[in-house]
Amino acid sequence: MAQEDLFKKLVAHCKEYGYVFPSSEIYDGLSAVYDYGQYGVELKNNIKKYWWDSMVLLNDNIVGIDSAIFMHPTIWKASGHVDAFNDPLIDNKDSKKRYRADVLIEEHLAKIEDKITKEVEKARERFGTAFDEKKFRETNPRVLANQVKIDELNARFSKALNDSNLVELKQIIIDNEIVDPVSGTRNWTDVRQFNLMFSTEMGSTAEGANKIYLRPETAQGIFVNFLNVQKTGRMKIPFGIAQIGKAFRNEIVARQFIFRMREFEQMEMQFFVQPGSDPEWFKIWKEKRMKWHQALGFGSENYRFHDHIKLAHYANAATDIEFKFPFGFKEVEGIHSRTDYDLKQHQQYSGKKMQYFDPEKGESYVPFVIETSIGVDRMFLQVISAAYFEEILKKEDGTTDTRVVLRLPSFLAPVKLAVMPLVKKDGLPEIAEKIVHDLKFDFNCQYDEKDSIGRRYRRQDAIGTPYCITIDHQTLDDQSVTIRYRDSMKQERVQLSQLKDIISEKVNIRTILKLL
Ligand code: ATP
Repeated sequence: MAQEDLFKKLVAHCKEYGYVFPSSEIYDGLSAVYDYGQYGVELKNNIKKYWWDSMVLLNDNIVGIDSAIFMHPTIWKASGHVDAFNDPLIDNKDSKKRYRADVLIEEHLAKIEDKITKEVEKARERFGTAFDEKKFRETNPRVLANQVKIDELNARFSKALNDSNLVELKQIIIDNEIVDPVSGTRNWTDVRQFNLMFSTEMGSTAEGANKIYLRPETAQGIFVNFLNVQKTGRMKIPFGIAQIGKAFRNEIVARQFIFRMREFEQMEMQFFVQPGSDPEWFKIWKEKRMKWHQALGFGSENYRFHDHIKLAHYANAATDIEFKFPFGFKEVEGIHSRTDYDLKQHQQYSGKKMQYFDPEKGESYVPFVIETSIGVDRMFLQVISAAYFEEILKKEDGTTDTRVVLRLPSFLAPVKLAVMPLVKKDGLPEIAEKIVHDLKFDFNCQYDEKDSIGRRYRRQDAIGTPYCITIDHQTLDDQSVTIRYRDSMKQERVQLSQLKDIISEKVNIRTILKLL
C-alpha cells in the first residue's frame, strides 16, 4: 500500500476507534488542534509514564516539576523568544497557500536524496550479494552529481539561515525551481519572518492589562526554577529537572495530523553540568535517548540522528532523533546543548544570581545545560504508525479476510485485557464480570459480551488489546480459561488462578525500563 494511503487509513482508524478526534468537530474543527479520545488518552498517559519513569525513577539525580503555563512576560524577552522565535514564511500568489521557506528547501533536498536512494536500490537489485554500496556511492556518476547538488545547496541554505538572510532564502527557492505543490507554479511572495508565540492579556481592564504569552516550550519553567529545585532538593551538579506540559506555537503550516499542532505537549529535561563537560554529556544523552526509543522494538533501521545545520540562538550543538513516519524520516525529539545562555540571560534580566556553588571546586558558576525535548503527540504518532498493520488472513474455505491490528507494546496498550463470556447465559457472564472486578485494580480491563467471539477479537485487535480471555463451559468444570494473544492469534488454556500473575508480568513497565 502506498505510504500516503496508509497514513490516511491510520488517521481514519484513530478517529473510528476513539484515539484522536479533530477538535471542535461539530463546528467543523479548529485547524491543527486535536482531542484525544477514550483510548488515546490512555496511550498518551502510558507514553508519558514511560518517559517520566525513565527520567525521574531511574536516575536519582533527576527530579520533576510542574510549572505554570503563564509566566512573567520578561521571561520570553530574556530567553530570546520575543525577538527570535520566528519562522521564515512565504506565500504562493496563485494557490494563496502559505509555506515555511526552510521546509520547502528541506523537502527539495529530501527529493534529491530520494533519487540517490533509488539509484542505490536499483544497483543493489542488479548486483545482488556482490554489491558494494560504499564503492557505488563513491563512483557512480549520477549519485556523485546529486551528492554535489545536495552539498552545495546545504552550504548555501545553512549560510542563509544563519545570516537570517530572507532575500537569499527566496533566491534559493527560485534558483532551484521549487514549485508550490498545490498550484505547481513559482509565483512566490518575498520571505518574511513570523513570530510563533501566541499572546493574551492578563488583568481585568484593558489599560491595566499585561501582555502575556502562552509558553512555546516548557523549558523556561525549568530554568526559572533552577535555584528553587537545586536548593530545596540539595541537588549536586550534574543533575536534571524534568517536566511534562502543554506548549503552544502558532505554526505557519500545520498539517500531517498530530505531527505539527498549535497546542501540543512536551516532555523536556534540562541537565545542568559543569562548564566544559557539556560535549561529553551531549554525547551521553544522545545515546541514552536513542536507546529509549529503540527499546520499543519498532526496528533500529527506522531511527536516525539528524544534526542541525542552523543552530538556535542558544545552542552550541543540536541533533534530532528522526523516526521513519509514513511520510518519511521526521523529527520526534531534539537534543540540544544550550550552553549557559538561558541561565545567564535570566540572571541579567531578573538581577538575581543564577549560580551554583560547587563544594568540590570551592567556587560558583553558571552551569551549562543539555536539553532533551520530545513531543508527546509526535511520540504518540510514532507509536501508532509503527503499530498499525493490515494483515491478510487466509480462511479455511480458501477465501481471505483483512485484519486491522495495532501491535502496541503491551505496557503501552490502553486496554491490557478483554474478558469475554463465550455466551450470554449459563453463568458465564457472571464469571467474566467477577474477573474484571478482581483485576481492574491491577490493570485496565474491559468486559465484552456483544457479537460473535470472532468479531469481539477483531474489535480488540483494532484497539490494540494484547490479551483476550474467553470464559466457556469448561471454565465451570475446571476453572480454566482461554487466553488469546493479539499478535500471533494463538490460544492457550490457563488456570483462572494464574491469570493475574501471567498478565501482570507481561504488561509491566518494569520489563522495558530494565532494558534502559
Ligand atoms: P520542527 O522543526 O518540527 O518545527 P522544532 O525543532 O521547532 O520542530 P523543538 O523546538 O526542538 O522542535 O521542540 C522539541 C520537540 O517538541 C520536537 O522534537 C517535537 O517532538 C515537539 N514539537 C515541536 N513543535 C511541535 C508541534 N507544532 N506539534 C507537535 N509537536 C511539536
